[in-house]
This record gives sequence, C-alpha cells and structure tokens, in this order.
Amino acid sequence: MSTCAIVGINWGDEGKGRMVDLLAEQFNIVVRYQGGSNAGHTVINEFGKFALNLLPSGIFRSDVINVLGNGVALDPEHLSGEIDRLRSVGVIITPDNLKISDRACIVFPFHKLLDELEEIRLSDKKYGSTKRGIAPIYGDKYQKKAIQAGEVLTPDYLRERLHDIVAWKNLTISGVYGAKPIDEKELWDWCEKFLLPLAPFICNTGKLLEEAHRDNKSILFEAQLGALRDIDYGIYPYSTSSSPLASYAPIGSGAPWIQIDDCLGVVKAFSTCVGEGPFVVELFGEEAEKLREIGNEYGAATGRPRRVGPLDLVATRYGVRVQGATQLALTKLDVLSYMDKIPVCVAYKLKDGTITTDFPFTPYLYGATPIIEYFDGFNCDISGIREYDKLPKAAREYIEYIEEKVDCKITYISVGPKREEIIIR
Ligand code: GDP
Repeated sequence: MSTCAIVGINWGDEGKGRMVDLLAEQFNIVVRYQGGSNAGHTVINEFGKFALNLLPSGIFRSDVINVLGNGVALDPEHLSGEIDRLRSVGVIITPDNLKISDRACIVFPFHKLLDELEEIRLSDKKYGSTKRGIAPIYGDKYQKKAIQAGEVLTPDYLRERLHDIVAWKNLTISGVYGAKPIDEKELWDWCEKFLLPLAPFICNTGKLLEEAHRDNKSILFEAQLGALRDIDYGIYPYSTSSSPLASYAPIGSGAPWIQIDDCLGVVKAFSTCVGEGPFVVELFGEEAEKLREIGNEYGAATGRPRRVGPLDLVATRYGVRVQGATQLALTKLDVLSYMDKIPVCVAYKLKDGTITTDFPFTPYLYGATPIIEYFDGFNCDISGIREYDKLPKAAREYIEYIEEKVDCKITYISVGPKREEIIIR
C-alpha cells in the first residue's frame, strides 16, 4: 500500500489544497487528520473555486473516499453548509464517499463563543484566533469533556453527557466571563438540526483504513496549517491546538500503525503568516503591499490580509526536518516574476548579536532580524511554463539554492493556482 502525507512546511497557506487536488486521483482515500473549520484549502478545478474548511480536498474526485479522522475538530453546522455549497455545483457527497470518524470531537456553538470571549478578554494580547472554537474544543478533548461524533449513534448517551458538559461549561461562560449561559434546549435543537443528521456518515475509520490496507489501497493524508503552527514544535502559543505534522497523520486518522511512505512538504516561494506571533521576515509598507496584492495573500477562511515576507530558509529547513519531508512542492513561484531582485532570508541575527541558521525557541524570535541575500529576478512571466528546463536560469538557480539549503528535493513547482499550472520534475 502506498501512503503519502501532504503537509505544510511553514506557517500554513502554502497551497496544500491545490497539491491534494492535483494528486488525489492517484489515491483511493484522502484523509484530513487534524484541525477544524479554520482551514482554508483553496482549490480551483472544473467545478469552480473553493476554500475548503473541513472537507478533504479529494471530495471533487468521484472515485475517492474522503475521511475526516479522529484528530479533526468537527463543526457540524459548518460542515453541513460546506456540503450544501458543494452539492449546489454538482459535487456528489454521500455516506459512500465521505466518512467521519466516530472518534472526531464535535465543535459546538459554545466553543466558538468561548473563543470569542477569550479574545475579547485578551484585548491587545489576543492570539489572533479565527474564532472557530478550535482551542476550546481541543482543550475540552484533553480535559475529557468533549463529545465524540459516534455518540450520535446512541442519542440517550449523547444527551446525558451533553447535559453534564453544559453544566460544567456554564461555570466558565457565566461564572468567569459573565456571559449568557448555554440554554440546553436550544443546544439540543441545534444538535437535531446539524449533528444528528451526520449519523449516516459516521463510522470506525480505523476499520475502514485497515480494510483498505489489506486490499492494497493507497491513502493520502491532508494536513491543515504548517509545521510552525504545530502545538509542540511550532511558535507556541501562537500555534494551533493540534499537530499538523506528518507523523501525527496515522494517529489522527484512525490507524496509528500505518507507516507514511512519502511526505510531500509544501513550501511557498515567499513567506506568509496569518494572525499574531513573531514573524522574523515580515515586510512592511509598500514592499509588503505589493507582494500581498500580487500574491493575493488574504486568508481563505477569514479574508484577513496575510503578513508577508521573503522566503525564510531558517524556518523552512526547520519545517522540512520536523515534517520529515521526503520531497517538496514549491508553490506560487510565478508571483515572484515582478521582482527585479528576489530577497531570501538565509540566517537570523538574534537580539544578542548571535547569527544562526537554526530556528530558535520562540522567545528568541523576538528582536531577531533576517539576514537577506538577493537572487536575480526572472524577468519574464513563468506561469505558462510546464517543463523545468524551460524555466529561466534565474528561477532554476533560486530553486536549486533552496533545495541545497533545506536538503530536500523540489519535485513540483507550481506556477499558478489552477490544477494544470504545475511543473513536475
Ligand atoms: P493551503 O491552506 O495550504 O491549501 O493554502 P491556501 O489555499 O490558503 O493558499 C494558497 C493560495 O495560493 C490559494 O489562493 C491558491 O489558489 C493559490 N495558489 C496555490 N498555488 C499557486 C501558484 O502556484 N501560483 C499562484 N499565483 N497562486 C497559487
């Protein structure tokens, strides 16, 4: 069986969705294994343009089985909206091609409320949360106060657990934040509208993957966000609340015993970062505006302008290492075509003057400045090129320099957002 994980090497938004969309046809199963509806995987194909928040990007391929694994934070209301939107343009979604793990944790409206209340309390120290309830649901999961999707199949059990959880949550919502407590009746109405209808999609995804393994089926694991947002290895606390690492994919899918044969890391040809937290290579002013506009760097899930900067080789090498990437896809190379000189960050100068190429522990990122080297611009539009040798010499030099510095082969070069706008080496 061949298994591959497509993961983000940087801060997220690298273009993982377009890579999964491109490669999904080679796989029988595509699994989202972590994160929630705060993802924004942009896919452009024959159905149109979509920012997928929860559904695996293989959903457009009719012969692919799509799985939302146990590591996912599942917002039923959001999922039902996303399913309706895709069905309205002709995408077929049924319990045959979409499977939800019985162990996925459910995001309720009170998780989103808690996200919002905490960001308001934090004021200018806010995390920059997408307010999709992600940190509260993962917090509850580890406090063993979450509802798992499979409980839908035993409604009496679900109702009783929900009753206890509501009593506990209200201690925080009204007691700590002074907000209106959860109304249990309203919450149950919401469950009947959005959660209970998911029952036909819910199954033991571990069993499904085990059978697929036995039948020699191939599996693609799709991550959300990137290595620098990992809860353990990212820029904590400006990380996400789950693990977007390839090594978590089997655990978050239902089959912890699966080996990942191949890990395709997705790297953007320049850096972007949404939300708060230290971002050493950040550009400001006109230079930033131009890169943001030409790269169309606005959050797919939220529309927020992304912070932008040159490619950061310090962070990228770290990302390649923690992901265990076996090959890389370099995306949005076309965006750099307007630059006369292309800046690249090759090292950091820390506050105490130390120069390092090792990605430092979070507090040392504050006050660090990037050491920049410049590459020749491409001097032409590369978006129509489909063969590596036809790329201008300057573009090939840029690519080969990155490969050497991060010690990993770049096998895909994306030169546009559409499925076919890619160079395969
Ligand atoms: P993901 O979350 O990692 O899938 O990334 P996003 O979808 O948030 O961000 C990637 C953005 O870049 C989307 O708007 C894509 O359509 C776009 N994109 C992906 N690859 C390319 C490319 O090679 N060139 C250009 N110009 N845009 C791209």
